[in-house]
Amino acid sequence: ILSGITKKYNDNSLAVDNLNLEIEKGEFLVLVGPSGCGKTTTLRMIAGLEKITDGTLVFNNEIINEMSPGERKIGMVFQSYALYPHKNVYENLAFGLRKAKVPKDDMNEMIQQTARMLGLDGLLKRKPKHLSGGQRQRVALARAIVKQPNIFLFDEPLSNLDASLRVSTRKEISKLHQQLQSTMIYVTHDQVEAMTLGTKIAVMNKGKLEQIDTPANIYKNPRNTFVASFIGTPP
Ligand code: ATP
Repeated sequence: ILSGITKKYNDNSLAVDNLNLEIEKGEFLVLVGPSGCGKTTTLRMIAGLEKITDGTLVFNNEIINEMSPGERKIGMVFQSYALYPHKNVYENLAFGLRKAKVPKDDMNEMIQQTARMLGLDGLLKRKPKHLSGGQRQRVALARAIVKQPNIFLFDEPLSNLDASLRVSTRKEISKLHQQLQSTMIYVTHDQVEAMTLGTKIAVMNKGKLEQIDTPANIYKNPRNTFVASFIGTPP
């Protein structure tokens, strides 16, 4: 639950303005809105990568404002993949688990299982530079999954992929959501992604929430012309 969340950057600009959001367990919430509306800032505050100026962030009845990103047990996938270039796929997946002091045997099993889930079994010894863009993004997904996080955060994970890979990776993310039944929050400015992935869509504008509802309801009953213009035609 995000209650009255506000973020001011040093220059005093208001990036997120008194935002209230409730996210149910197992929900796939898509945050959409124009560039600069505060989507990434919101995600980074949930992750603990950005300090909250005002408001409270509650997870499972606990205020987590002061918790470090590690303590929040969050799996994050960025558009830039953010893999370690000098480590192979196995080591990229192992890094977070070692930090969390997962026993070696368990770690190996978790990595093998996740690699199978994402079709990366044959690629564990490769370095990122020897992978395609789609494979790199699958490694980034695997790295988020392997830690068995409480919640997944995605920041435009498909925007660096070409059109056909975007579609297949989108389907993969959808499948993972069904398999894992975990809570996911996904930032995009692509309305097709929003309509096809989301169980709920939150439309943001200038740091505020314009509307939050199911894709079908938002499409049928946009609250105002801004929302209507953003959620144009159905996929
Ligand atoms: P995009 O779709 O372009 O990624 P966004 O909706 O994710 O945009 P944010 O990146 O959250 O938007 O930015 C919201 C506002 O905060 C913008 O006006 C941006 O210029 C400002 N902002 C973001 N990061 C910083 C920062 N580190 N310092 C100062 N201002 C920032």
